[in-house]
Amino acid sequence: MSTDHNSKPVFSCEFFPPRTDVGMEKLIATQQQLQNTISPAFFSVTFGAGGTTRDRTLETVRQLRSDESSIIAPHISCIGSSKQQLEELLNQYMALGINRLVTLRGDMPEGVEQVNELNHANELVAFVREKTGDHFYIEVAAYPEYHPESASPNADFEHFLNKARAGADSAITQYFYNIDAYTRFVEKCEQAQLDIPIVPGIMPIINYANLIRFSDNCGAEIPRWIRLQLAAYENDPDSLRDFGTDVVARLCQQLLEAGAPGLHFYTLNQSEAILKIWDRL
Ligand code: FAD
Repeated sequence: MSTDHNSKPVFSCEFFPPRTDVGMEKLIATQQQLQNTISPAFFSVTFGAGGTTRDRTLETVRQLRSDESSIIAPHISCIGSSKQQLEELLNQYMALGINRLVTLRGDMPEGVEQVNELNHANELVAFVREKTGDHFYIEVAAYPEYHPESASPNADFEHFLNKARAGADSAITQYFYNIDAYTRFVEKCEQAQLDIPIVPGIMPIINYANLIRFSDNCGAEIPRWIRLQLAAYENDPDSLRDFGTDVVARLCQQLLEAGAPGLHFYTLNQSEAILKIWDRL
């Protein structure tokens, strides 16, 4: 993996749309804390396929935009939306002054009818470029440990290259705790002459059961030594969080030393764990 210590790392933070007004107030306070300390290049807001969740992303983007010093990047996914709905959403974001997107296929929530006209993220990237030209800086998702539905590692990597070449400016990875998976993935991109930043996604370790459940679903591996130690701390949340901060801060440090172009923090709408990691960097 090539190392460019001259360029400054770019940090970003991800939120999900809160369900209540109280949740929104808390999120705005979290945004302020992170803005004042990390001053991220952008805050991204996740997107849920299906009517009400889709609208919550737009509303959250509107609320977070009231702090003019923050740049907001909505996630947009093609699963569960028609081309017309996607185009309307792109127009709404352009009218709001948004010029950055995280562009995904998405996952369909259980029980919601699937009406997608675009089937994969590469088609959505091409659609956004067709409709809006170079207006948006486009991020796509990358999977150093491979996407759980992929037919094979090679097929998954080829699909990633197609998606990036459809017009992405940068990629953010699924989280991982095996640094070799990331460095190998970046090397494969270099060998394929794909020259876009591949920014590691960083998941803080806050809660044992949630992390295990989520990782099993999204295909992120938790190494045995981490899993066993977390299990041993299951009823001792302070020790679990201290251990988690230590593991994740060390991973972040190693990634930056290896030349990662930045870090994208999955904040889970909380600032505390991220700020503890940040203090250690
Ligand atoms: P794709 O790139 O389309 O890939 C999905 C699968 O299809 C892969 O297995 C790939 O190998 C395969 N594939 C791709 N192209 C083809 C093709 N042409 N033919 C056959 N197979 C193909 N989910 C949400 O719902 N909302 C969010 O806001 C959200 N944010 C995310 C942010 C990040 C940084 C990441 C890493 C993930 C996020 N996700 C989100 C999860 C993501 O939507 C899921 O992982 C989803 O299953 C795949 O999305 P994708 O954009 O990577 O899809």
